[in-house]
Amino acid sequence: MKSLIREQVIRLYEWVYKPSLNEYNKNELSQSAIVFSPHFDDETLGCGGIMIKKKRAGADIKLVFMTDGSKSHSHLIPENELKTIRANEGIAAAQSMGIDAGDVFLLGFEETKLKEHHDSAVAKVRQIIQEQQPKEIFIPYHQEPLLWSEDHLCTTKIVKSALQSYGKNVVIYEYPIWFWLHWPWVDLINKNSSLTRIIVKHTLMYGLGSRLLRDFQCSMYIGDVLEQKHATLAEHKSQMTSLIPDSKWSTLNDVSNGKFLQCFFQEREVFRRYHHSVI
Ligand SMILES: [Zn+2]
Repeated sequence: MKSLIREQVIRLYEWVYKPSLNEYNKNELSQSAIVFSPHFDDETLGCGGIMIKKKRAGADIKLVFMTDGSKSHSHLIPENELKTIRANEGIAAAQSMGIDAGDVFLLGFEETKLKEHHDSAVAKVRQIIQEQQPKEIFIPYHQEPLLWSEDHLCTTKIVKSALQSYGKNVVIYEYPIWFWLHWPWVDLINKNSSLTRIIVKHTLMYGLGSRLLRDFQCSMYIGDVLEQKHATLAEHKSQMTSLIPDSKWSTLNDVSNGKFLQCFFQEREVFRRYHHSVI
Protein backbone atom coordinates (compact mmCIF):
# COMPACT_ATOMS: atom_id res chain seq x y z
CA MET A 1 0.00 0.00 0.00
CA LYS A 2 2.76 2.40 1.08
CA SER A 3 4.80 1.68 -2.03
CA LEU A 4 1.66 2.08 -4.17
CA ILE A 5 1.20 5.61 -2.81
CA ARG A 6 4.89 6.33 -3.40
CA GLU A 7 4.65 5.15 -7.01
CA GLN A 8 1.50 7.19 -7.61
CA VAL A 9 3.19 10.33 -6.26
CA ILE A 10 6.21 9.73 -8.51
CA ARG A 11 3.87 9.36 -11.50
CA LEU A 12 2.08 12.56 -10.53
CA TYR A 13 5.39 14.44 -10.32
CA GLU A 14 6.49 13.04 -13.67
CA TRP A 15 3.20 14.15 -15.23
CA VAL A 16 3.66 17.70 -13.92
CA TYR A 17 7.41 17.78 -14.41
CA LYS A 18 8.08 16.41 -17.89
CA PRO A 19 6.27 19.08 -19.95
CA SER A 20 8.20 21.86 -18.17
CA LEU A 21 11.65 20.33 -18.73
CA ASN A 22 14.13 21.95 -21.10
CA GLU A 23 15.97 19.31 -23.07
CA TYR A 24 19.75 19.71 -23.24
CA ASN A 25 20.51 21.05 -26.71
CA LYS A 26 21.83 18.10 -28.74
CA ASN A 27 23.92 20.50 -30.84
CA GLU A 28 25.94 21.21 -27.71
CA LEU A 29 26.84 17.58 -27.05
CA SER A 30 30.22 18.09 -28.75
CA GLN A 31 31.13 21.05 -26.53
CA SER A 32 34.07 20.63 -24.19
CA ALA A 33 33.40 20.01 -20.50
CA ILE A 34 35.04 19.42 -17.15
CA VAL A 35 33.23 17.15 -14.71
CA PHE A 36 34.16 17.65 -11.05
CA SER A 37 33.42 14.60 -8.92
CA PRO A 38 33.80 14.67 -5.11
CA HIS A 39 34.25 10.89 -4.94
CA PHE A 40 34.92 8.01 -7.29
CA ASP A 41 31.42 7.13 -8.64
CA ASP A 42 29.57 10.48 -8.33
CA GLU A 43 30.50 11.35 -11.92
CA THR A 44 28.94 8.14 -13.26
CA LEU A 45 25.85 8.31 -11.06
CA GLY A 46 25.08 11.99 -11.61
CA CYS A 47 26.12 12.58 -15.20
CA GLY A 48 27.44 9.32 -16.65
CA GLY A 49 24.73 9.25 -19.31
CA ILE A 50 25.44 12.71 -20.68
CA MET A 51 29.20 12.09 -20.49
CA ILE A 52 28.81 8.96 -22.62
CA LYS A 53 26.70 10.89 -25.15
CA LYS A 54 29.11 13.81 -25.24
CA LYS A 55 32.10 11.53 -25.83
CA ARG A 56 30.21 9.79 -28.65
CA ALA A 57 29.60 13.26 -30.14
CA GLY A 58 33.36 13.93 -30.03
CA ALA A 59 33.49 16.25 -27.00
CA ASP A 60 36.72 16.84 -25.11
CA ILE A 61 35.88 15.87 -21.51
CA LYS A 62 38.18 16.17 -18.53
CA LEU A 63 37.25 14.38 -15.32
CA VAL A 64 38.49 15.68 -11.97
CA PHE A 65 38.24 13.51 -8.85
CA MET A 66 38.57 15.74 -5.82
CA THR A 67 39.24 13.20 -3.04
CA ASP A 68 41.33 10.06 -2.59
CA GLY A 69 38.67 7.40 -1.89
CA SER A 70 40.41 6.33 1.31
CA LYS A 71 37.39 6.16 3.60
CA SER A 72 34.50 4.23 2.01
CA HIS A 73 35.43 0.84 3.50
CA SER A 74 38.38 1.80 5.70
CA HIS A 75 37.01 -0.39 8.52
CA LEU A 76 37.61 -3.43 6.32
CA ILE A 77 40.63 -2.59 4.19
CA PRO A 78 43.72 -0.37 4.83
CA GLU A 79 43.27 3.19 3.58
CA ASN A 80 46.34 3.10 1.33
CA GLU A 81 45.12 -0.03 -0.44
CA LEU A 82 41.66 1.47 -0.79
CA LYS A 83 43.07 4.65 -2.37
CA THR A 84 44.79 2.64 -5.09
CA ILE A 85 41.76 0.44 -5.72
CA ARG A 86 39.36 3.36 -6.02
CA ALA A 87 41.64 5.49 -8.21
CA ASN A 88 42.04 2.54 -10.60
CA GLU A 89 38.26 2.05 -10.61
CA GLY A 90 37.75 5.76 -11.37
CA ILE A 91 40.13 5.56 -14.33
CA ALA A 92 38.49 2.34 -15.59
CA ALA A 93 35.07 4.03 -15.37
CA ALA A 94 36.38 7.02 -17.32
CA GLN A 95 37.80 4.73 -20.02
CA SER A 96 34.50 2.88 -20.18
CA MET A 97 32.88 6.22 -21.11
CA GLY A 98 35.53 6.86 -23.77
CA ILE A 99 37.69 9.23 -21.68
CA ASP A 100 41.47 8.68 -21.84
CA ALA A 101 43.31 8.04 -18.57
CA GLY A 102 45.38 11.15 -19.38
CA ASP A 103 42.22 13.26 -19.20
CA VAL A 104 41.54 12.19 -15.60
CA PHE A 105 42.86 14.39 -12.80
CA LEU A 106 43.30 12.88 -9.34
CA LEU A 107 43.55 15.76 -6.86
CA GLY A 108 43.87 13.30 -3.97
CA PHE A 109 42.52 15.35 -1.07
CA GLU A 110 41.63 13.18 1.92
CA GLU A 111 38.07 11.87 1.62
CA THR A 112 35.63 13.53 4.09
CA LYS A 113 38.21 16.31 4.74
CA LEU A 114 37.99 18.35 1.55
CA LYS A 115 36.79 21.37 3.52
CA GLU A 116 40.14 21.56 5.31
CA HIS A 117 41.93 21.96 1.98
CA HIS A 118 39.68 24.62 0.46
CA ASP A 119 42.39 27.11 -0.56
CA SER A 120 44.80 24.64 -2.12
CA ALA A 121 41.89 22.92 -3.90
CA VAL A 122 40.72 26.26 -5.33
CA ALA A 123 44.24 26.90 -6.67
CA LYS A 124 44.40 23.49 -8.37
CA VAL A 125 40.89 23.76 -9.82
CA ARG A 126 41.57 27.31 -11.07
CA GLN A 127 44.67 26.09 -12.89
CA ILE A 128 42.80 23.20 -14.53
CA ILE A 129 39.95 25.48 -15.68
CA GLN A 130 42.40 28.10 -17.01
CA GLU A 131 44.35 25.48 -18.94
CA GLN A 132 41.35 23.58 -20.35
CA GLN A 133 38.96 26.49 -20.95
CA PRO A 134 35.82 24.31 -21.05
CA LYS A 135 32.48 25.44 -22.44
CA GLU A 136 30.62 23.49 -19.74
CA ILE A 137 31.29 22.57 -16.12
CA PHE A 138 29.51 19.84 -14.15
CA ILE A 139 29.43 20.07 -10.33
CA PRO A 140 27.26 18.58 -7.55
CA TYR A 141 23.95 20.26 -6.69
CA HIS A 142 24.63 23.27 -4.44
CA GLN A 143 22.02 22.08 -1.92
CA GLU A 144 23.07 18.49 -1.55
CA PRO A 145 22.24 17.29 1.98
CA LEU A 146 25.01 17.03 4.55
CA LEU A 147 25.28 13.32 4.85
CA TRP A 148 28.38 11.28 5.53
CA SER A 149 30.64 14.17 4.55
CA GLU A 150 30.59 17.70 3.25
CA ASP A 151 32.70 16.79 0.21
CA HIS A 152 29.85 17.30 -2.28
CA LEU A 153 29.04 20.80 -1.07
CA CYS A 154 32.74 21.65 -0.78
CA THR A 155 33.41 20.58 -4.37
CA THR A 156 30.74 22.98 -5.60
CA LYS A 157 32.03 25.83 -3.41
CA ILE A 158 35.62 25.24 -4.52
CA VAL A 159 34.76 25.27 -8.24
CA LYS A 160 32.63 28.41 -7.83
CA SER A 161 35.48 30.17 -5.98
CA ALA A 162 37.90 29.16 -8.73
CA LEU A 163 35.51 30.55 -11.36
CA GLN A 164 35.45 34.01 -9.76
CA SER A 165 38.70 34.92 -11.49
CA TYR A 166 37.89 33.05 -14.73
CA GLY A 167 37.50 35.55 -17.51
CA LYS A 168 35.34 33.49 -19.87
CA ASN A 169 31.69 32.47 -20.07
CA VAL A 170 30.85 28.92 -19.14
CA VAL A 171 27.61 27.00 -18.64
CA ILE A 172 27.25 25.27 -15.27
CA TYR A 173 25.33 22.04 -14.78
CA GLU A 174 24.64 20.97 -11.20
CA TYR A 175 23.87 17.26 -10.83
CA PRO A 176 22.03 15.65 -7.90
CA ILE A 177 23.40 12.68 -5.92
CA TRP A 178 22.33 12.41 -2.26
CA PHE A 179 19.50 14.80 -3.14
CA TRP A 180 17.60 11.72 -4.36
CA LEU A 181 17.62 10.22 -0.87
CA HIS A 182 14.15 11.46 0.04
CA TRP A 183 10.53 10.34 -0.38
CA PRO A 184 8.96 9.67 -2.86
CA TRP A 185 12.14 8.66 -4.71
CA VAL A 186 13.03 6.18 -1.93
CA ASP A 187 10.92 4.57 0.82
CA LEU A 188 10.20 6.78 3.82
CA ILE A 189 10.48 3.93 6.34
CA ASN A 190 13.53 1.66 6.34
CA LYS A 191 14.70 -1.19 8.56
CA ASN A 192 17.59 1.02 9.62
CA SER A 193 16.04 3.66 11.90
CA SER A 194 18.86 6.19 11.44
CA LEU A 195 18.36 6.00 7.65
CA THR A 196 14.63 6.57 8.19
CA ARG A 197 15.42 9.70 10.24
CA ILE A 198 17.69 11.00 7.46
CA ILE A 199 15.06 10.35 4.79
CA VAL A 200 12.30 12.05 6.81
CA LYS A 201 14.58 15.08 7.31
CA HIS A 202 15.44 15.26 3.60
CA THR A 203 11.81 14.82 2.60
CA LEU A 204 10.81 17.86 4.65
CA MET A 205 13.84 19.82 3.44
CA TYR A 206 12.97 19.16 -0.20
CA GLY A 207 9.25 19.89 0.10
CA LEU A 208 7.92 16.31 -0.24
CA GLY A 209 9.78 15.89 -3.51
CA SER A 210 8.68 19.17 -5.07
CA ARG A 211 12.22 20.64 -5.07
CA LEU A 212 12.95 18.54 -8.15
CA LEU A 213 10.45 20.60 -10.11
CA ARG A 214 11.88 23.89 -8.91
CA ASP A 215 15.61 23.33 -9.29
CA PHE A 216 16.16 20.74 -12.00
CA GLN A 217 14.68 22.13 -15.18
CA CYS A 218 17.26 20.84 -17.65
CA SER A 219 17.32 17.21 -18.69
CA MET A 220 19.06 14.83 -21.04
CA TYR A 221 17.40 11.71 -22.38
CA ILE A 222 19.74 8.80 -21.59
CA GLY A 223 17.40 5.87 -22.27
CA ASP A 224 19.59 4.95 -25.26
CA VAL A 225 22.81 4.70 -23.20
CA LEU A 226 21.51 3.15 -19.97
CA GLU A 227 23.24 -0.15 -20.68
CA GLN A 228 26.56 1.66 -21.10
CA LYS A 229 25.93 3.66 -17.91
CA HIS A 230 25.36 0.39 -16.00
CA ALA A 231 28.60 -1.00 -17.45
CA THR A 232 30.48 2.16 -16.43
CA LEU A 233 29.14 2.06 -12.88
CA ALA A 234 30.14 -1.62 -12.66
CA GLU A 235 33.77 -0.47 -13.05
CA HIS A 236 33.43 1.02 -9.56
CA LYS A 237 33.64 -2.55 -8.28
CA SER A 238 34.20 -1.63 -4.62
CA GLN A 239 30.92 0.32 -4.63
CA MET A 240 28.89 -2.30 -6.48
CA THR A 241 30.18 -5.62 -5.10
CA SER A 242 31.78 -6.91 -1.93
CA LEU A 243 35.55 -7.15 -2.39
CA ILE A 244 35.71 -9.29 0.77
CA PRO A 245 33.09 -12.10 0.67
CA ASP A 246 30.97 -12.55 3.81
CA SER A 247 32.06 -9.23 5.27
CA LYS A 248 29.79 -6.33 6.14
CA TRP A 249 30.85 -4.58 2.94
CA SER A 250 28.14 -2.10 1.99
CA THR A 251 27.37 -1.33 -1.65
CA LEU A 252 25.26 1.28 -3.41
CA ASN A 253 22.52 -1.31 -3.84
CA ASP A 254 22.14 -1.55 -0.06
CA VAL A 255 20.92 2.05 0.22
CA SER A 256 17.15 1.94 0.62
CA ASN A 257 16.87 -1.53 -0.90
CA GLY A 258 18.24 -0.44 -4.25
CA LYS A 259 15.70 2.34 -4.72
CA PHE A 260 18.39 5.02 -4.33
CA LEU A 261 20.43 3.44 -7.13
CA GLN A 262 17.36 3.28 -9.40
CA CYS A 263 17.16 7.09 -9.30
CA PHE A 264 20.29 7.25 -11.48
CA PHE A 265 18.90 4.86 -14.08
CA GLN A 266 15.74 6.72 -14.96
CA GLU A 267 15.45 7.59 -18.62
CA ARG A 268 16.60 11.16 -17.96
CA GLU A 269 19.46 12.78 -16.11
CA VAL A 270 18.43 16.13 -14.67
CA PHE A 271 20.47 19.24 -14.04
CA ARG A 272 20.27 22.74 -12.59
CA ARG A 273 21.63 24.79 -15.48
CA TYR A 274 22.87 28.39 -15.46
CA HIS A 275 25.51 30.63 -16.97
CA HIS A 276 28.66 31.81 -15.29
CA SER A 277 29.23 35.11 -17.04
CA VAL A 278 32.21 37.40 -17.15
CA ILE A 279 31.35 40.53 -15.17
ZN1 LIG B 1 30.02 11.23 -3.22
